[in-house]
Amino acid sequence: MKIRISSFYNLLFIAALLGCLVAPAQAVDIESVLNTAYDKYRNLEEGANADYIPALAKVDPELFGIVLVTVDGKVYSVGDVTSEVSIQSISKVFTMAKVMEESGPDAISDNMGVDATGQVFNSIVAIEQYKGQQMNAMVNPGAITATSMVKGKTGEDVWKSIIGTYDDFAGRKLSVLEDIYKSEAETNQRNQALAMLMYAYGRIETDPLVATDVYTRQCSVGVNARDLAMMAATLANGGKNPVTGKQVIGSDIVPEVLAVMATAGLYDDSGQWLFRTGLPAKSGVGGGILAVSPGKFGIAAISPPLDPAGNSVRAQKSIADISNALCGNPYDPVPEGSCGSK
Ligand code: GLU
Repeated sequence: MKIRISSFYNLLFIAALLGCLVAPAQAVDIESVLNTAYDKYRNLEEGANADYIPALAKVDPELFGIVLVTVDGKVYSVGDVTSEVSIQSISKVFTMAKVMEESGPDAISDNMGVDATGQVFNSIVAIEQYKGQQMNAMVNPGAITATSMVKGKTGEDVWKSIIGTYDDFAGRKLSVLEDIYKSEAETNQRNQALAMLMYAYGRIETDPLVATDVYTRQCSVGVNARDLAMMAATLANGGKNPVTGKQVIGSDIVPEVLAVMATAGLYDDSGQWLFRTGLPAKSGVGGGILAVSPGKFGIAAISPPLDPAGNSVRAQKSIADISNALCGNPYDPVPEGSCGSK
C-alpha cells in the first residue's frame, strides 16, 4: 500500500502512529510485582528443610523474603530480608569467580571442567567416571577443588581471600554462622572423602582436608536476602557492585561464571529451571536462591523448605514469576515490556 503524504495532517498522523508503536510499554511497578509473588507463595506449605546437616533442620521454615537489585542500584524488597541463613552452595559461584579472576576461566574448565554431571551434587560416581574431570564447580567435588585453587599460602590466607570476595560482592562484612559451621564440620565426612578422591586424581594439589574445612566455612557464611540479591546484581552489572561501585571481578569473566551457573546451578533441576526462566542461578540447601538477569537485575529469595531436588520451593516459584513479569529472561527476544503476560 502506498501512502501519499500530501499534507501536514497526514505527516502528523504518521508521526502519532509511529510514536504509538515505539513508545515504551508502561513501566512495570517492580514493588507490586514482588508483593504479588510474595502474597501468592507465602502460605505455600511444600517441601522440607534440609536435615543432613543437623543445624539446617532447626532453621525457621516460615522465613521468607525476596529482594531485587537493579544494575543501577535500586533495591526492592518484601518479607523478611534481614534474617540470615547459611549461604551453602551459593558460595560455590563466588569462590569459582575468584579462581577465574586470579587464574583465568580456563583454570576451572581445564581442571574439574564445566559440564553437568547428571549425578547428585555429592556424587562419588561422578568423580570416578572421568577421574575428577568433566564435572563443574557447582557440585561438591568441583567446588572443594575450586576452594583449594584460591591463592594463599595457608588455609587461613585462602579463607580471608574468600570471605573478602564475598564481602565485596555483598557490599558489607559477612561472617560465619558458627552453629552451622560446627554442625557441618562434625558431619562432613562425605565431603572429606570427595576431596581425598580429587586429591588422588591430582585435581586438588593442596591439603584436601584443609580445603574441605575452608569449603565448610564458606558454606556456613550467613546471608540475608538482600546480600544474595546484591551478589547477583554485581554479576548482572558486569562484576561491579551496583551500590558500592567496587569492581569485584573483571567483566570479562562474568559470562563464564554465568554459563556455569546456567549449566548446573539448581542441582538436577538445572534444565527445568533454565527452561522456565532462562536465568543463570544458584541455589543452596540453606534455602536461598539467587538469579541473574544480565544487564538488568539480580534477584534472590530465601525460604528454607526444599523440594526433592534440593531447591527452595517458594524461592523458585517467586523468582520465576517476578523475572517473567519483568522480562528477565535473556533468551527472550520480545521487545522490552511486552513479555509480562507469561
Ligand atoms: N555445605 C553443603 C554440602 O557440602 C552444601 C550443599 C548445598 O548447598 O548444595 O553438603
